[in-house]
Amino acid sequence: MMEEHLNFGIYEYKGAIHIHSKYSDGGCGIKGIVKEAQKAGLDYIILTDHESLQALKDGYEGWYDNVLLLVGEEITPRGGYHYLALGIEAEIIGKQFIQVQHFIDRVSASGGIGIIAHPFGNRTRLLEIRKNSWQNWDVKGYTGIEIWSYMIDWIDNVTPLTLLKYYFYPDKAIDGPKPEALKRWDEIAQTRHIVGIGSLDAHGRPTPILWFLKPLSYKHLFKTIRTHILTTAPLAQQSLNESKKLVYDAIRAGRCFFAYDFLADSTGFRFAGLMNQTVSILMGDEINLNGNVSLQASAPAPAELRLIRNGKQIKSEYGKKIEFETDQTGAYRVEVYYDNRPWIFSNHLFLR
Ligand SMILES: [Zn+2]
Ligand SMILES: [Zn+2]
Repeated sequence: MMEEHLNFGIYEYKGAIHIHSKYSDGGCGIKGIVKEAQKAGLDYIILTDHESLQALKDGYEGWYDNVLLLVGEEITPRGGYHYLALGIEAEIIGKQFIQVQHFIDRVSASGGIGIIAHPFGNRTRLLEIRKNSWQNWDVKGYTGIEIWSYMIDWIDNVTPLTLLKYYFYPDKAIDGPKPEALKRWDEIAQTRHIVGIGSLDAHGRPTPILWFLKPLSYKHLFKTIRTHILTTAPLAQQSLNESKKLVYDAIRAGRCFFAYDFLADSTGFRFAGLMNQTVSILMGDEINLNGNVSLQASAPAPAELRLIRNGKQIKSEYGKKIEFETDQTGAYRVEVYYDNRPWIFSNHLFLR
């Protein structure tokens, strides 16, 4: 019954979120980016240029064979509060706002999805200071948080001494979401619905120091951290609006997980539950607990699965499956480690 539920009516698509193009500070135009996405086998990509929806205005949103390109924006006000706005129709210029809460509200009022980008910022080269981190956690109304960003993970581990090593072996610099981000995510999840995504922050530009090297190329990044969405219907190639709605509905609902697919393809991962043998729930769902819930997660390859409740690990299992019976409320999620390395992160299942 559980198995049946886990696969019932669910279509899965993998995509890359948070991509910059030449419309802001990216190194490549739309056509080049799409070509790399096709080669990497992605199903969707979401462009988020700084303070710009020009790609949308220029008509680039749409299907390119099997790749769906959607255009969002990275609101980039002064002060380093970067905020991804997805599914909005008109540009929101962060620099025109003094209060962070006001552009968050504007995104919500536009029917968009708002995601706090790189919440713990990035370490600046040579100096031990963090920039572009999110300072104001009292704000309300945002949809989610970028929990794992490839660029931030890579940059954070690169020092002048390790730059060459991590250029040639970028994978060695990738060691998982920041513990602070996971902690914050779990804290917020205990009181309200919140979505976590994995992203790239792809710029595809040469490094300023070794300008002839391109360690963070679109080509490489598209094989790395992907957010897999679960939709209730196939992404219909004939209708852009319908496909767009399916992608954004899945993200907004937290019916998604993110994974470092460079280690192994995470396609097929599931985290779901069944309450009182009858009511089926999926990650992202928020329900009133009334009885008993059997939680189950399954991975596409043998790995270590860890079940987390309210930020604390409550069970771990090596294999392709983990099961747990509970009558306790909480925000539950699953982490999967492949070869002892962080691989898959589910969204929460909220039992209230
Ligand atoms: Zn940013
Ligand atoms: Zn960015």
